[in-house]
Amino acid sequence: MQDLDDLLASNVNWAESIKAEDPDFFTRLAEQQTPEYLWIGCSDSRVPATQISGMVPGEMFVHRNIANCVVHTDLNCLSVIFYAIQVLKVKHIIVTGHYGCGGVRAATESTRYGLADHWIRNIRDVYNRRRDELNKIEDHDERVNRLCELNVEQQVANVAHIPAVQHVWQNGGELSIHGLIYGISDGLLKRVTQPITGLQDIAEEYHVLGSVSG
Ligand SMILES: [Zn+2]
Repeated sequence: MQDLDDLLASNVNWAESIKAEDPDFFTRLAEQQTPEYLWIGCSDSRVPATQISGMVPGEMFVHRNIANCVVHTDLNCLSVIFYAIQVLKVKHIIVTGHYGCGGVRAATESTRYGLADHWIRNIRDVYNRRRDELNKIEDHDERVNRLCELNVEQQVANVAHIPAVQHVWQNGGELSIHGLIYGISDGLLKRVTQPITGLQDIAEEYHVLGSVSG
C-alpha cells in the first residue's frame, strides 16, 4: 500500500481545495448526479474527460476504452449508453478521439498484442473501408491521425445506429451525438463531425423503429 501514499495524499489536498472554494460541494453532489453529457473517449492517460473539457465532478458521465470504440455487441458500452439516455437522460453523447492514439496506430501496423488485437480489429475495419483515402497519405503519423478522425466518424455513426438511441428521437426526445478530436500537443478539442440530432441524419438502412423496450 505504501506506493499509493502519494496518490492518497494528493486526493486529500484536492478534496480540501474544492471544499475551501465551495464548502457544500461534496454534500450536494452526494445527493444525485444530473449530467447533461455522456463522454465516450480513449483510455489514454493523457485524455482525462472531465479535466480537458473544463467540467467538474457531476457534469459528465464517462465511458472509456482503447481508441474510443462503440461496438454493437459490447455489453459494457451499451449498458453505459442505455443508462445515460434512459435514466440520466443526457442531452449530448460525445465521442472523442485523440491524435496519436496508440490503439489507432496499432491498426496501421502488424504487431501482435494478444487479446487487444480483437478490439483493434474494429479500427482495422475502419481503415479497410477508407483505405483509398488513407493509403494516399505518405507520412505514417499523418495517416494515423487521419484514421483517428475517421474512427471518430465511424463510432459516432455506431452510436446513432443503436435502436435505443433512435427510440429517444422517435419519442420526441432531445439528444445530439457529436464527434470531437483532442490534440495532445495543444490541449484543444475540435469537431470532426456535424452533430447528429435525429433520424433524418442517419442512413435509412440503419433505422430500427418500434415500441419494444430495451
Ligand atoms: Zn488513444
